[in-house]
Amino acid sequence: MSQWPIGVFTSVDAGLGVRLDVVEELKIPTVQIHAPHQETRTEQSANEFLAKCQAAGVEITCVFGGFEGESYASIAETARTVGLVPLETRAARAQEMKEISDFAKLLGVETVALHIGFVPEDRDGDDYKGLLEVTRDLLDHIKGNGQHLNLETGQETADHLLDFINDVDRDNLFINFDPANMILYGTGNPIEALKKVGHLVRSIHCKDGTWAAEGERGTAWGCEVALGQGDVGIDTYLSTLKEIGYTGPLTIEREIPDDREQQKADVGAAVSLLEELRANIL
Ligand code: MG
Repeated sequence: MSQWPIGVFTSVDAGLGVRLDVVEELKIPTVQIHAPHQETRTEQSANEFLAKCQAAGVEITCVFGGFEGESYASIAETARTVGLVPLETRAARAQEMKEISDFAKLLGVETVALHIGFVPEDRDGDDYKGLLEVTRDLLDHIKGNGQHLNLETGQETADHLLDFINDVDRDNLFINFDPANMILYGTGNPIEALKKVGHLVRSIHCKDGTWAAEGERGTAWGCEVALGQGDVGIDTYLSTLKEIGYTGPLTIEREIPDDREQQKADVGAAVSLLEELRANIL
């Protein structure tokens, strides 16, 4: 793969992420995919999706896990419902993530990724220690499939994410860096964060956003916007990716409805922007 191929976040099931026919029409060479629901995680659907990707000349670089019952309606709802942090669903979701890793293996994909949830603050607390244990067990399963796990950024500060990864102490745990999330969740300046965690960044999202009002950061959402129109500073973002030695895909993530023309317009504009910046920076 050449350096910094363009990518886009897509989905096996319809609904989440950009449609594969849009990916094909825009001639985007790589995709991250959101894992399908349990009933679709079969060998047959893996083979069918792979065949479609191969026909479109698209390489799958990462499979993202997600779970029934997660809600991003507000930051508080996200903290309560997302990832492996909520105790009542932790064991079942960890098991499901193992199955998603198995599905990714069927697709020949070596990277799985996850919003693990809001990592508890207290590193001496039982909740934090329990999360360490379940993450280690998951990573051992993932390693058995020859894969690594990239944690999505945003739900905690760069420092706390680094502490957590160090405390987990496994060699197949890395980061999917999403600069917009740092802004949307109000967890820190994305460029400073990228410099801090750069050595662990193995995949990234190209997403943009604007900060919530001063005084509401961390409690109210910022606003996700089209790439180049937010507060990330995409030019500086790419320069910093070069600085940290990142060579992988530039995966566009755009939270837009299942509207083919809208997707084509927004993702097409993002591709143009990234191609122009890439030509200048690389
Ligand atoms: Mg993201």
